[in-house]
Amino acid sequence: MLNIIICGAPGSGKGTQSALIKDKYNLLHLSTGDLLRAEIAAKSDLGRVAESYIANGQLVPDSMIIDILDKAISEREAADTYNGLILDGFPRTVAQAEALEGLLKKHGKELSVLLDLAVDEAELVDRLIKRGQTSGRSDDNLETIKKRLDVYHEKTEPVNDYYKKQGKYVAIPGMGSIDEIFGRICEAIEKL
Ligand code: AMP
Repeated sequence: MLNIIICGAPGSGKGTQSALIKDKYNLLHLSTGDLLRAEIAAKSDLGRVAESYIANGQLVPDSMIIDILDKAISEREAADTYNGLILDGFPRTVAQAEALEGLLKKHGKELSVLLDLAVDEAELVDRLIKRGQTSGRSDDNLETIKKRLDVYHEKTEPVNDYYKKQGKYVAIPGMGSIDEIFGRICEAIEKL
């Protein structure tokens, strides 16, 4: 089984690369951002609560996100034809990383690696502004992008140290073409 976390700042290419990785290695792709946006589109109670956090560039509370992910794994792994999981945008706090250990155990899984996409800050802002022109996302505007980057440095970067201590952290240079970056990721996965 291959259970991967793909991590990195907003705009680092997590979603783009996850789509390529899941196809190549036949993994179940779970993006907590996508799961939240689906709740918002469905106008669920959870979606209504999540909406204001997302539009303000803040993280949704840990307990809420852990419940959503637990539910998503339970629902989707039933048709278990996958070779593992790719978690995109989770964990984003150390508390989520700690909870993930229990969650994976509960579902009979173990983490293989965290891949951290490293991209220059100016490039991140550029990519997100460009994406905002077509994404329709409430959080792809300059003011919210800056807040998301601050939150990333404060709350999400410490997650890297958590996995470094476990020897499961691999940094992937995230600058260059989509194919070049994907090539680096495949190399890292094949070394596992
Ligand atoms: P993303 O699509 O991964 O960029 O996520 C968009 C937004 O959803 C984030 O800025 C957060 O507000 C929220 N979100 C996604 N994943 C998480 C998470 N693991 N913990 C807390 N909030 C999250």
